[in-house]
Amino acid sequence: MAVVTGLDEYQARMMDGVSQVLSGSGLPLIVHATDPYGRGIPSCLSALLRHGLPVGVVTSANSTPEEEREVIELVSVAGIPQVHIGQQIVGSWCVGGDNETGMRQLMHHLLHDCGIRHPVLVKGLSHQVDSAAREMFFREEMAAHGLPLDEDLVLEGRFHHDHAYHAMSELLNRTRDMDAVVALNDESAVGALQALLDAGLRVPDDVVVTGFDNARVSSRYWPGLTTVDQDLREQGATAARMLLEAIEGRGEPRRVVVPSHLVVRASTVGVDREPDGGLATAISIAISSREMLAAQDSVIGLTRATIRCRTVREVVDVVASELSRLGIDRCFLSLYDRPVGTPVGTPVEVEQARLVLEYLKRKPCPSPNEVFPTHEMLPARLWPEIVEAGTMVMQPLSGAHRELGFVLFDVLSGPSTPAEVLRLDLSRSLEIVVTAQELEEHAATLERLVARRTRELEQANTELHRSLMLDGLTRIANRTALQEHLDWHWSELARNADRLAVLMVDVDLFKPYNDRYGHLAGDHALRTIASCLQRSVRGEDDLAARFGGEEFIVVLPRCGEQAAAAVAARFRRLLAHSAITHESSTVAPVVTASIGVAVATVRDQNGPATLLQQADEALYRAKALGRDRVVFAGRTMPVFQQRRPEQIAPAERPEQIDPPDRISPENAG
Ligand code: GH3
Ligand code: MG
Ligand code: MG
Repeated sequence: MAVVTGLDEYQARMMDGVSQVLSGSGLPLIVHATDPYGRGIPSCLSALLRHGLPVGVVTSANSTPEEEREVIELVSVAGIPQVHIGQQIVGSWCVGGDNETGMRQLMHHLLHDCGIRHPVLVKGLSHQVDSAAREMFFREEMAAHGLPLDEDLVLEGRFHHDHAYHAMSELLNRTRDMDAVVALNDESAVGALQALLDAGLRVPDDVVVTGFDNARVSSRYWPGLTTVDQDLREQGATAARMLLEAIEGRGEPRRVVVPSHLVVRASTVGVDREPDGGLATAISIAISSREMLAAQDSVIGLTRATIRCRTVREVVDVVASELSRLGIDRCFLSLYDRPVGTPVGTPVEVEQARLVLEYLKRKPCPSPNEVFPTHEMLPARLWPEIVEAGTMVMQPLSGAHRELGFVLFDVLSGPSTPAEVLRLDLSRSLEIVVTAQELEEHAATLERLVARRTRELEQANTELHRSLMLDGLTRIANRTALQEHLDWHWSELARNADRLAVLMVDVDLFKPYNDRYGHLAGDHALRTIASCLQRSVRGEDDLAARFGGEEFIVVLPRCGEQAAAAVAARFRRLLAHSAITHESSTVAPVVTASIGVAVATVRDQNGPATLLQQADEALYRAKALGRDRVVFAGRTMPVFQQRRPEQIAPAERPEQIDPPDRISPENAG
């Protein structure tokens, strides 16, 4: 069984050779490590190398030297036998193409058959061994033929179509003094060739063009590209044979060079000089175009479908419905199972993955959702699937901010585009979905937090306000609350010229009470009195408050004398019922209170102070008249002698009878 990461066409051809050798050997695991577009080694691969401990590893060139070193180091630390393709490491098992023979044959063809004298060099990736070697032999051949290389004609192509295209276009703006373009791989050769054609030059009549590698792309262009076949298949097969040696402890580490050979096509000799007049190239272009079109259709379908996904489930379902069009029979999608609350961008420490798609025999299986250690690649029950597949591609999935997981699928024949698009589309749509979900969760958490804080603050505020408005001793409204209440209602009532009644209550002979029973008993009595007063007000806007000392005030908005009398009566009844013994009182054997009542029709011009003044005066008169009574402001002569509680018949006692007869204005009539 072999697992391949980041497979493109170049690697696919190597893998062909590797698989062929290994399939006969029954070797369980090979990793061909490359992710040309990733940043650093993906978690799925490092987990596999660290904990999965494959029997052997074949590496091929990566995009950056750091990544190459990282992979090799990981494998070395794990003590896994390894063979490197396209690298030269002293004391290691290495395989490479024969750059020297290839480049010398190519230069011989260019210099002798085509007669070039003034070539452009399109360089590759300077850190790569192949790239460096090809450039070196190119320069050597030029020098050997006594031809100076014009450094102005040396371009950075970076093994990439677009880079080469732009570098070449720029050069053509400056000069057309050239007779050849020698590119160090086929991709960049094709880019340069296109730039020449777009600039109106003829290939090969004006400029001849060559590539290297004999990649698929080299025969897909018209005119077909002259190139060097590096026999990638044989490089892979050689690497596999060497790996078997290394695993079995046979032989010594060494570097093997696989012979390469020149492939001459129309880009240097013209269509007429191709043996079949370019027919083979034309047929291969037609075949490849058909494949490309089919691949393009399928990948556009995939991209269209995934762009609308809003949940992981939708992504999984959409991908499952498109896989057969991509030519994939077997596919497993696993996402890293991040511990809840892991911030975006942090590496996955617990290397667990969750299988979210199991696609077998061109059909999705019921939603699997199984968690397993990442290095095992699949839940154990599915291992036979990898073994049976022989070779599977493992594509790491990652977005701008994080690694997401990986997808495992059968190696595809034909263009590598669908596999790459599958990786890109999955990465993109999953990152959007996962990020959106995280943002939503984050926002919801924040909202909950803010709501809770707001509630707490509101409660604390209410509590604070309440305590600011409460009298410390009696726990009824204090003077501040009274003032606020009075002011607010005053202006409200003034609008309709409504009435407002005020009761001023003063405990009789309370000083003697304190003197006799002590201050603490006095406090206790005040609490009882306050409670009686509180219970005697019933209206929503009525307020009983402690005015200070042993004085209380009741505010009754929209009330006249009758309602005030009713409240006073209720209070007197409740107080009488409390029967707080007061042996020093000259009025009664229990604590009593005097009440002054004032009622006003509220007008804007006069504030509540006058009303309070009137109530105070009435209270004063109640005291003067002998205490323990209710006196209404504005009346001069007392009419009723108010009865003492002990004079009230039991049937009339508090809560049982209506009071007005006992609490009538003293001077009514
Ligand atoms: P009167 O019938 O004329 O109102 O006689 P009085 O003794 O109630 O009047 P005075 O104003 O002389 O005394 C009021 C007393 O109330 C004085 C004080 O000892 C007592 N007092 C005021 N506030 C408190 C308090 O918070 N706790 C206690 N225990 N007594 C208080
Ligand atoms: Mg007083
Ligand atoms: Mg008093």
